[in-house]
Amino acid sequence: MTTKNNSQISKHNRPICRRGVIWITKLCNIKCKFCYYLYEKGKTHTSFDSIERTIKWFKNQYHLEYVDITGGEPTIHPDIEKIIELSNENGIKPTIITNAQKTETIEKLIHAGLEDILISIHGINDFYDNVVQKKGAFKNIEKTLSMLNKNEFSFRTNTTLTSYSCNDIEEIVSWLLRVKPRIANLIAFNPHEGTLWAQENVQDFQVNYTKMAEAAKYAIDKLMSNGIWVNVRYMPLCFMKGYEKHICNFMQWQYDPYEWDCVSGERLSNEQVTKSLSEAEENGVFGNSDEEKIKNYLMKKQTSVNSYISQCSDCANKSICDGIYPQYLKSFGGEEFIATLGEDIEDPLHYRMEDLRWSQLKERF
Ligand code: SF4
Repeated sequence: MTTKNNSQISKHNRPICRRGVIWITKLCNIKCKFCYYLYEKGKTHTSFDSIERTIKWFKNQYHLEYVDITGGEPTIHPDIEKIIELSNENGIKPTIITNAQKTETIEKLIHAGLEDILISIHGINDFYDNVVQKKGAFKNIEKTLSMLNKNEFSFRTNTTLTSYSCNDIEEIVSWLLRVKPRIANLIAFNPHEGTLWAQENVQDFQVNYTKMAEAAKYAIDKLMSNGIWVNVRYMPLCFMKGYEKHICNFMQWQYDPYEWDCVSGERLSNEQVTKSLSEAEENGVFGNSDEEKIKNYLMKKQTSVNSYISQCSDCANKSICDGIYPQYLKSFGGEEFIATLGEDIEDPLHYRMEDLRWSQLKERF
């Protein structure tokens, strides 16, 4: 991206994502019942050479500053320590997204230069062990958290909103209040196109947005009053009236410094970036800079298979909403959706700009 874009972003004081993502394995040491890769055959680790090429590409072609290293479970990759070192050598600060089962490995990664850690937590005690189908798994997380505490290494958490976590939300929130992540992400189970669950009818773990929103609002009220910022991902804005600033859906993604840059995600060449800009302009996509226009255009394309129902035509948020996943509509219908009335909102950050705590990177805490 050009200097011109950067100066415009700073002029408008709008954050923009500089983080890539790299999947280094599809293998895992637990079996979350809602995992996208649960039944995939022939899962393997990515080779170190391929990871090295990607990291260098992130730096030289896309000028990224951060990378999320994920899987599968990244801590079981045999070269994970080398990958953390490689990332730092290339000037990209590494985060791992982990189930926190391997305490000793994670401690080594901290000493090898890990910048941040995002821990997945989907329940508490036996409830968690049941969801991830591994006895003693929750105890391993507790052990990792003690180690992080000892090393004064802060962390964030991800919780997927399913029937498991929604039914256990009070316990999860009490635990979060005790262990104090910097940021807690609540992720509505999202049956993206191309994933295992996109074509399936109601999964036994899938609940409707009304139930997910109830759990999310409970968590926001408790955690925010204790200084823990909460993001809610992939939840239609109409379910979170009064809580919209917490929503980070596809249209808000490219501004969130903890999410993933879509230009590198799609491995776009310079020519493709230029073409995306002219298509974005032809389509009147919102943006205060070329970079915003390109990214908002690409994110719109990513959700283009989603639907809008009759209520959506009256909704003030329709331009900044991802629409409704086809699998969700097929499973639950559209009766729960109630439009937000008012003037049309075009800026994806309309609500997020009310409070910028979500945009504070680790160094600034
Ligand atoms: S456009 Fe539709 S799905 Fe999106 S927030 Fe509005 S009513 Fe909800």
